[in-house]
Amino acid sequence: MPFEGTTAIVTGGASGIGLAITEALAEQGCSVAVLDLQQEALDEQVARLRDLGRDVHGHVCDVTDRPGVEATVERVREEQGVPLILVNNAGRPLFRPFLGITLEEWQGVLDVNLTGTFHLCQVVLPGMVDAGWGRVVNISSSSTHGGQPYLSGYVAAKSAVVGLTKSLALEHGPDGITVNTIPPGFIDTPMLQADAARGRLGPGGVDDAIARTPVRRIGRPEDIAHVCVFLCQDESSYITGQVIGVNGGRNT
Ligand code: NAP
Repeated sequence: MPFEGTTAIVTGGASGIGLAITEALAEQGCSVAVLDLQQEALDEQVARLRDLGRDVHGHVCDVTDRPGVEATVERVREEQGVPLILVNNAGRPLFRPFLGITLEEWQGVLDVNLTGTFHLCQVVLPGMVDAGWGRVVNISSSSTHGGQPYLSGYVAAKSAVVGLTKSLALEHGPDGITVNTIPPGFIDTPMLQADAARGRLGPGGVDDAIARTPVRRIGRPEDIAHVCVFLCQDESSYITGQVIGVNGGRNT
């Protein structure tokens, strides 16, 4: 059990990629705090994982709400211990032609995809600094590699997450903390299926996207979780400030 006794926070951890990361870290022995928006989804996933013997706690927490983030992290510290692994995964796209984006929509997409990561990092990092050990993994997006039409706000926010990752890695490397980002591409999650149902993958949908993917399959949430666990291992202490693409060869 390489992570036995280590507390982890996974945002957006009740669905898709975040859920797979929660499962993988908990399977390795981590005590995982899942932060997500919907009580029902949290209850369902926490109950299922506890039935498997995993140490998982659910917290309704909107990552854009700073006081809520501070209160939740404090509860995690009291109930599970100081979090030394932080996975900033909560995110949501905004599909809109650039010229139609309102200021409110722009602010909203930055809030959830970028400022939420800022809040969690600022609140959780001091405990890692005190411990002299920490792992931060930020989930960005493969769309940052080349841009994407109708996703400019989302791509801008995720690109800023890449910059934040690199800067934090430099600033906190001397504290024993690594900070890396995984930009996923084309992963089979409720978010992707919703996009496919709305025709946002193009007229050929998922099948066409698979045909254009070099490894000829859709990504699985477990593909991201696998790399996340690797980056959180003690043995990965020489890997920091890196962008580790997991995308089946797309957008590289
Ligand atoms: P998902 O299935 O929709 O899961 C995202 C989870 O985050 C949901 O449970 C969602 O809650 C939650 N969430 C959204 N806003 C939140 C907030 N403000 N505070 C706390 N939780 C929040 O999506 P996914 O595909 O697994 O995506 C996970 C991450 O990967 C996202 O950052 C996404 O941008 C990134 N990503 C995914 C892909 C892909 O192909 N799937 C590609 C590139 C990047 P609700 O369901 O209630 O909204």
